[in-house]
Amino acid sequence: MNYVSTRDNRLKADSLNAVLNGIAPDGGLYVGSESLFSGFDAKKTVDMDYRTKACSIMSTLLPDFENMEAVVEKAYSGKFDTSEITPLVKVGNDYVLELFHGPTSAFKDVALSMLPLLITQAMAQSKQKEETVILTATSGDTGKAALEGFKDVHGTKIVVFYPYNGVSEIQKTQMVTQQGSNVLVCAVKGNFDDCQREVKKAFVNLNGKLKGTGVRLSSANSINIGRLAPQVVYYFSAYGDLVKRGDIKWGELVDFVVPTGNFGDILAGFYAKQMGLPVGKLVCACNQNNVLEDFINTGVYDRNREFYKTQSPSMDILVSSNLERLLFMASAPDSDKKVSSWMNDLADKGRFSVDDETFSFIRQSFVSYSCSEEETRAAINSCWNESHYLCDPHTAVAWHCLKLHGKNTQNKCVVLSTASAYKFPRAVLSALGYNEDLSDFEQMSKLNKITGVPIPENLKKLENAEVRFTDVVDRQNIESFVLDYLK
Ligand SMILES: *Cc1c(COP(=O)(O)O)cnc(C)c1O
Repeated sequence: MNYVSTRDNRLKADSLNAVLNGIAPDGGLYVGSESLFSGFDAKKTVDMDYRTKACSIMSTLLPDFENMEAVVEKAYSGKFDTSEITPLVKVGNDYVLELFHGPTSAFKDVALSMLPLLITQAMAQSKQKEETVILTATSGDTGKAALEGFKDVHGTKIVVFYPYNGVSEIQKTQMVTQQGSNVLVCAVKGNFDDCQREVKKAFVNLNGKLKGTGVRLSSANSINIGRLAPQVVYYFSAYGDLVKRGDIKWGELVDFVVPTGNFGDILAGFYAKQMGLPVGKLVCACNQNNVLEDFINTGVYDRNREFYKTQSPSMDILVSSNLERLLFMASAPDSDKKVSSWMNDLADKGRFSVDDETFSFIRQSFVSYSCSEEETRAAINSCWNESHYLCDPHTAVAWHCLKLHGKNTQNKCVVLSTASAYKFPRAVLSALGYNEDLSDFEQMSKLNKITGVPIPENLKKLENAEVRFTDVVDRQNIESFVLDYLK
């Protein structure tokens, strides 16, 4: 039993059940024990190819899984448009780690190509005959990547909720045209936080109601440890590439700048560090919704503030679920008691404040900056005009924060690029100075004409795809919507 709930360490699970359950029975998140991280030989991964690295890291974090090699092979073969999976590109004196070469052109593909296979493997090993139903709230990119990952996977169904008017036209089109016989997509009135909170609530209620019916609920949100583990791999991959190119020697610290929303991506970087990768600072890059910047700079988390809809919608979040895992790791001993009281404060008052020891633990590894809407546009523009690199608005937020952070560090810096610019052509074109009234698809081809950067195949095909899903529900009806579907 290597995993416990962040809110009660008597609630234990092995890695198979941590993946199958998604969330612990008390609403906490599953966290791995320290022994999972400590014995790992990080240096030996330098010479491995991506899949071998993935296999070695995943088996360490999820030790109960058999057939990891086959899982990794199946997850990545033929799905990414480059054999490197996550190529590292030099831009000026810095580096961009491109995480968007998967089937939906967003970084979430790296993990969501793997999660369905982990779930079916866990089902097989624990001799479960139940059907797994994935319930997911999305701020735009998770939904499509999860639908693509679970489509027609035997023994699973997937239901995705997205905030109505909270995602881009391309993101919406990607979801409502999804193929597959086991998928359902629905819009929810409200913003992403409303959507995520209500889906979490529905999850807990339905879990009770569905006991004994042959259906088991799980989540594809980054609260699932099966989502986090595959993301650890690309930090090793980026570091290994720097060593192999001779740009650093093993042991030199590298800082990673991560466009952050739900705190999953950046937490995976912290896991890599705990496993022995020479990571310097993890730079939490926030958009105008800068609740995490304030937290990392003050130790006070306060969600009582205005919610902004920005050009980087996948980061429009005021409650970052995965922060809970960092809080747990940062507040030993008695972590579970502290975390559960902070989470109660967050639920009751919308804020909590951590003690000095916890705060200084976090400050050792994390720094944070934010980027306004105007600065996002300026970053897209200058990155293209000065470095001839086209970045999407999420990556641009990180690019801006890189420039701020660069003044405070001697380490080499890697920016994580989380989406193709073609997922957000309107915002990108406008930042480059083109403000014509065109559809998103016309914007795509215009952007292509101006920059010469190729449009990913999966996005090109969308324009003529058939719309399959048109439902919109009030947030209190999420639960009944799912029940109707399962009947
Ligand atoms: C999800 C997402 C993010 C935020 O990642 P988290 O793991 O939620 O912090 C950033 N950029 C894009 C494009 C995303 O889809």
